[in-house]
Amino acid sequence: MVEKCALCKEKIENTFLGKIRGTFIKKKVVCSTCQKKFGADVVKQL
Ligand SMILES: [Zn+2]
Repeated sequence: MVEKCALCKEKIENTFLGKIRGTFIKKKVVCSTCQKKFGADVVKQL
């Protein structure tokens, strides 16, 4: 299953360990790029 970032709509790839390159926030997935971009404010963007 391919997850998409809730903010930029980019596909979030899986690592070789099967973990997504992103974080679940309020049951939505945010990619690491958006996390860096918004920092702690990422929750407000959702
Ligand atoms: Zn993103």
